[in-house]
Amino acid sequence: MDFNDTPLEAQFRAEVRAWLKANATERHTREDKFGAGLNEDDYLAAARTWQAKKAKAGYAAIAAPKTMGGLGGTPAMQVVYSQEEAKFLVPDCVFEVSLGTALPTVAMWGTPEQKEKYLARAFMGDHIWCQLFSEPSAGSDIGNVRTRAVRDGDDWVVTGQKVWTSGAHFADYGILLARTDWDSPKAKGLTMFIVDMKAEGVDVRPIHQASDEYHFNEVFLNDVRIPDSERLGHEGNGWKVMLSTLMQERFALGSNFSGDLYAQLIGLAQQAEWNGAPAISNATVRAGIADTYIQQFGVDLIVRRGMSAISRGESPGPEMASVKLIGARAFQTGGALAIELGGAEGLIAAQDLGAEWRLPQLLWISAPGARIAGGTDEIQKNTIAERVLGLPGEIRTDRDLPFRELER
Ligand SMILES: Cc1cc2nc3c(=O)[nH]c(=O)nc-3n(C[C@H](O)[C@H](O)[C@H](O)COP(=O)(O)OP(=O)(O)OC[C@H]3O[C@@H](n4cnc5c(N)ncnc54)[C@H](O)[C@@H]3O)c2cc1C
Repeated sequence: MDFNDTPLEAQFRAEVRAWLKANATERHTREDKFGAGLNEDDYLAAARTWQAKKAKAGYAAIAAPKTMGGLGGTPAMQVVYSQEEAKFLVPDCVFEVSLGTALPTVAMWGTPEQKEKYLARAFMGDHIWCQLFSEPSAGSDIGNVRTRAVRDGDDWVVTGQKVWTSGAHFADYGILLARTDWDSPKAKGLTMFIVDMKAEGVDVRPIHQASDEYHFNEVFLNDVRIPDSERLGHEGNGWKVMLSTLMQERFALGSNFSGDLYAQLIGLAQQAEWNGAPAISNATVRAGIADTYIQQFGVDLIVRRGMSAISRGESPGPEMASVKLIGARAFQTGGALAIELGGAEGLIAAQDLGAEWRLPQLLWISAPGARIAGGTDEIQKNTIAERVLGLPGEIRTDRDLPFRELER
């Protein structure tokens, strides 16, 4: 296995680094963040401007074909770009769902008209997309989707409720999974649609988080009319379309979990005093840092393994499930150690302690969400058990029954 860039990737890395240096500010410390103090509207405007700039330089959708407004590069080149961009202060998150999952799904399953209508404009930053899959009783078991789409002439009429929809409050469009057939088994009666988030009947309601952030929403769909021309893939093929979206999501999420939190913890442990001595001299602290290092180093190797597969033109294997499983926990236990290092002050908001305390606090706050988003810990373990270790699969008694006969 070769973890190094191929000559083409090395050349591309040098090219994008030069472009980023010319067009963005380099991040000096890991605590630097783009747009501190901007309100949401200004942040969104800055994100759209940055996206348009990338599009003009050809970096908006590196792996998408040129005919679709992309650069026609390889998925590995896309990964190289993302790695380099992470070293600069640019707006993040706003286009994460659009570029990471929704648009690749449209590129893969869309009709020529849909691709023409949506892709280039979204790559330019004109449109932001969200992903409407989860429902109050359909998360891990996404085959339980009950949002109903009923055919009416050239339209579908959609009624139901989605939940945890990231960015729905600023999205222009969404990919929506709905049930079109109640007599087929759960995975077979689903269809994917493109929904206009500003259409009549789409009601987006905020979910405010304990961290005081506002990231996701409940979305109620009240007799929303979607033209059949906005169906994504064949009727009844929604499960397959959704799986291709989730494959993209799992790799995109996975690559966020490498890093060097352990290095930051060493710095904090040298700074913090415990019983009149630097905390770094405490054996328990040292063991905690060593644990974080081991977890992060392992995650980094698995991410590189996935990238190496991408580089060879293959898909990363099911072992990628362990990246999020271990990486998110490393953030949670490492973040908790940082808070403990601060003693009583560890509970104070980071801005009062110094910027270097901010990142571990944020990681600690966001880790529980990361352990759920894109497949919970238990679901990752099931994937590892069944697809990596070859253990017997879960017993799924409801797989072949007509959906309307399942217990609610
Ligand atoms: C930060 C964040 C962003 C999100 N963004 C989006 C988004 O943009 N769009 C979207 O559609 N969804 C989004 N989600 C929702 C996410 O996909 C679901 O929360 C996730 O799939 C889990 O579903 P659930 O919350 O319904 O939990 P459930 O599936 O109800 O699970 C509850 C518990 O039961 C366990 N469990 C369930 N099934 C099994 C099993 N078979 N074996 C063992 N244990 C099991 C789970 O691990 C969990 O502990 C987001 C979630 C988060 C946290």
